[in-house]
Amino acid sequence: MIDRLLPDEETPCRKQRYLKQDRSIRNDGVLKMRQSQTLIPTMREIPADAETKSHQLLLRAGFIRQTASGIYTFLPLGKRVLKKVEEIVRQEMDAAGAVEMLMPSLQQAELWQESGRWYTYGPELMRLKDRHDREFALGPTHEEVVTSIVRDEIKSYKRFPLIVYQIQTKFRDEKRPRFGLLRGREFIMKDAYSFHSNTQSLDEVYDRIFQAYSNIFRRLGLNFRAVIADSGAMGGKDTHEFMVLSEIGEDTIAYSDSSDYAANIEMAPVVSTYEKPDEPLKERQKVSTPNAKTIEEVSKLLKVEETRCIKTLLFKVDDKYVLVLVRGDHEVNDVKVKNYFQASVVELASPEEVKSVLGCPIGSLGPVEVKEGIQVIADHAVQAIVNGVCGANEDGWHFVNVNPERDFQVTAYTDLRFIQEGDPSPDGKGTIRFAKGIEVGHVFKLGTRYSEAMGAYYLDENGKSQPMIMGCYGIGVSRTVSAVAEQFNDEKGFIWPKQIAPFDVHLIAVNTKDEVQRELAEQLYQSLQKERYEVLFDDRPERAGVKFADADLIGLPVRVTVGKKASEGIVEVKVRKTQETFEVPASDIVSQLASIFERL
Ligand code: ATP
Ligand code: MG
Repeated sequence: MIDRLLPDEETPCRKQRYLKQDRSIRNDGVLKMRQSQTLIPTMREIPADAETKSHQLLLRAGFIRQTASGIYTFLPLGKRVLKKVEEIVRQEMDAAGAVEMLMPSLQQAELWQESGRWYTYGPELMRLKDRHDREFALGPTHEEVVTSIVRDEIKSYKRFPLIVYQIQTKFRDEKRPRFGLLRGREFIMKDAYSFHSNTQSLDEVYDRIFQAYSNIFRRLGLNFRAVIADSGAMGGKDTHEFMVLSEIGEDTIAYSDSSDYAANIEMAPVVSTYEKPDEPLKERQKVSTPNAKTIEEVSKLLKVEETRCIKTLLFKVDDKYVLVLVRGDHEVNDVKVKNYFQASVVELASPEEVKSVLGCPIGSLGPVEVKEGIQVIADHAVQAIVNGVCGANEDGWHFVNVNPERDFQVTAYTDLRFIQEGDPSPDGKGTIRFAKGIEVGHVFKLGTRYSEAMGAYYLDENGKSQPMIMGCYGIGVSRTVSAVAEQFNDEKGFIWPKQIAPFDVHLIAVNTKDEVQRELAEQLYQSLQKERYEVLFDDRPERAGVKFADADLIGLPVRVTVGKKASEGIVEVKVRKTQETFEVPASDIVSQLASIFERL
């Protein structure tokens, strides 16, 4: 089924030419494939449960198939793209000084108990038992395994820094697997871990991997940003996420329109200042507000701007209740609440909890005369409100002409809200804009979180025992395939960038029953492969229309069609990206392709 290039066909001169032409990544020597003998099950109709363009096209063009929710098979074309993405990742990781290895997916519970994550990871961790009733997990990530290995094998500072990586299947029992490869329950990740004896070394390697990631995503042709991220449950400090800008992204990125500042919206500090209007304070009044629950309804009913309303929310911060105030047109950022209290868990109180703690529905909450023992914190913007409006902690009632300090006290005014479009950029340069992003990579300074928990110590220059300092670095390889697929397509199908297209050329014999056509096509099939082009040969006895539609759907960079003019030695070339079509003598095809690929 698969035609392999014999090693002795790889002449130095041919190799030179291939390198110069910079076509796709090659890693397996399989340069050609007959469509009649492989598995590319294309479909015309749009699969009902595929919501995104990438998911639809990966299914329709026969790259992947779902076997269970969030679990996929990579069919031959999908596998080829995956391999090429992996190869780019490998090249850049190797260049950054990382060494490849392979750790097991099946991990004994004891390791996870040592780090403590056995108890905190939650239902995403796939747990199972062996025949002796011993507990295991299917690895969602490998901090535990790698820390235990390095702990056992390395004792001296002289061996650092050490950077290891692997490309491997990960398991996470995601609550909502979706968008095909984008959020799977079984997916392929490149994960790397670095070990150091000092923080300068960690900083240096972090920057190097950061650069490697930028190279990888640039080489894939992705429109991406590295954004400041939340260190979350990992317990690290510095961390960046690599986000591909896309409408279907689940994360919102706040970026500056005039600098390279970009942050996950949860992480962007608000640097706005607010001026307090110079108005006389009016007498506070309680007014009836039947059926007005949201800020919008209250502001309409009472004819007050939303900027004068005080939005009040009850949060459960670890085991205490806290009232959080922001201006009516702002939203509370619970990560900021969490960071302010340095809490482990922050949750919005449910309507039932609000009822039982403050005796009113959520739409009537306010900071005036709050029950003792409940702390109140407020966003800076609230401090500048004069004669404002807030709930009266009584169903159907609000206060008007409420003034901070005079009518209620707060423990602290601090930054608690989400940044908004139009706010000044936190770096002082320009204005904030929003974009949606797909997280394809994540770099993270772990510090000693795992080494201390798991006893990974080394001896420093003075023979003193110290915990290893660590970093970890992930790329969602299969998710990246989806992100590329999402970015490179049109209404007819994929338009794969040449670096990772499953093949370079789609060779089509229009009428396989016509001997002249068949023969010329066979000849080109052989000669293009000799020139190190990867060729998918549509030799199926199908109608021309079917073959052309499939070729557009599959989206290889160049289509070469052998049709009626085969008798004159003429073939048609079509560039998928630009849709240009032209006829060339078959004898010129090699030079034509060289110049096309150079331009692509
Ligand atoms: P997300 O926030 O999207 O759930 P994460 O922050 O939990 O991802 P990490 O633990 O940082 O993910 O994993 C490293 C990389 O693995 C991510 O940047 C992402 O590209 C990829 N990844 C994570 N979860 C999935 C998944 N369910 N399916 C596919 N790729 C994933
Ligand atoms: Mg992440």
